[in-house]
Amino acid sequence: MPRRRAGARWHAEPVTSTPVAARDAVQQLPAYVPGARAGTDGRTHKLSSNENPYPPLASVQRAIEAAAGDVNRYPDMFATDLTHALGAKHGVDPSGVVAGNGSVAVLGHALQAYCDAGDEVVYAWRSFEAYPILVRLQGAVPVEVPVTPEGRHDLPAMAAAVTERTRVVLVCSPNNPTGPAVRHGELVELLAAVPERVLVVLDEAYTEFVRDADPIDSARILADHPNVLLLRTFSKAYGLAGLRVGYAVGHPDVVRPVRTASTPFGVNHLAQVAALASLDAEAELRARVDSVVEERRRLVAGLRAQGWSVPDSQGNFVWLATGERTVDLAADAVRNGVLVRPFLGEGIRISVGSPEANDAVLALAATWR
Ligand SMILES: *Cc1c(COP(=O)(O)O)cnc(C)c1O
Repeated sequence: MPRRRAGARWHAEPVTSTPVAARDAVQQLPAYVPGARAGTDGRTHKLSSNENPYPPLASVQRAIEAAAGDVNRYPDMFATDLTHALGAKHGVDPSGVVAGNGSVAVLGHALQAYCDAGDEVVYAWRSFEAYPILVRLQGAVPVEVPVTPEGRHDLPAMAAAVTERTRVVLVCSPNNPTGPAVRHGELVELLAAVPERVLVVLDEAYTEFVRDADPIDSARILADHPNVLLLRTFSKAYGLAGLRVGYAVGHPDVVRPVRTASTPFGVNHLAQVAALASLDAEAELRARVDSVVEERRRLVAGLRAQGWSVPDSQGNFVWLATGERTVDLAADAVRNGVLVRPFLGEGIRISVGSPEANDAVLALAATWR
């Protein structure tokens, strides 16, 4: 219990000794574990955060530089130009788009808009570690449905987990950190099984990397299901992780409350400008995504040839189920200049990097067999 002893000097006490107590929900939260940061020696391969291995496009960098002189002003609060461009990209009215400080922030705002304390949010597990944190912060109740042994969403089990209290079902496709994507047919079945009053959030942070036989056609899903909210980000395929910009697309009436809950001026000016410039360079960016996908195939094939059973990887990362050896192997990776994202007792997620970085991963993984 966070109680302060009489006469104790504040600076001699741990933080919890202050009489100002945070909500229990917050105190019990695990901290978000960011991917390890690279050292300054230039020799470390940072494969811990699913970042794009390419530097910003020259055109995008020029747009950021040109906008730097305006940062004494607040940004456009509604990111008007960007929301219009995104509306055009997705074939919807701009009123069906809301941008935010990364798609994680947009998800947080959606949960704020739709969940009261005690409401249930169903999602797969293991999945994106931000989910339980955002759900608990909102005072909502996480309902975690285990992924299959192949790391896939068990959508029938997720549909069966929906109760009267369920307000949101979260679908992460491709699933971070295991890799597989949900298929269009499976998603249609889920949507048929879930009541229309439940918001289904489809987190497609890695959609540009999907090369599946039956990929989700999100435009059709949105047109047929007004209870779906699509989440997208500029952090991965677009390579703007450092600027923090993501967005949601959905029915204008579903999006409006999310906009109401959004942080005012949540997307900074440089991010708006860079995202717009990126939308003007889609072809160039797609070529980069194709290269990452090629490298992903090489990495997965190489790992499988070594005897690893790697789940179907549809994002820009691969999953090694290292179980009890996870801590030791992740430490070994760091010693060898490869930063990865360990999940204690479960496995290691490794982002697809430059060809050189992926060679380093293959060499390292071979020593772990
Ligand atoms: C990286 C990631 C995001 C994107 O987060 P941003 O806040 O937009 O950087 C969202 N969902 C998942 C599953 C991710 O892995």
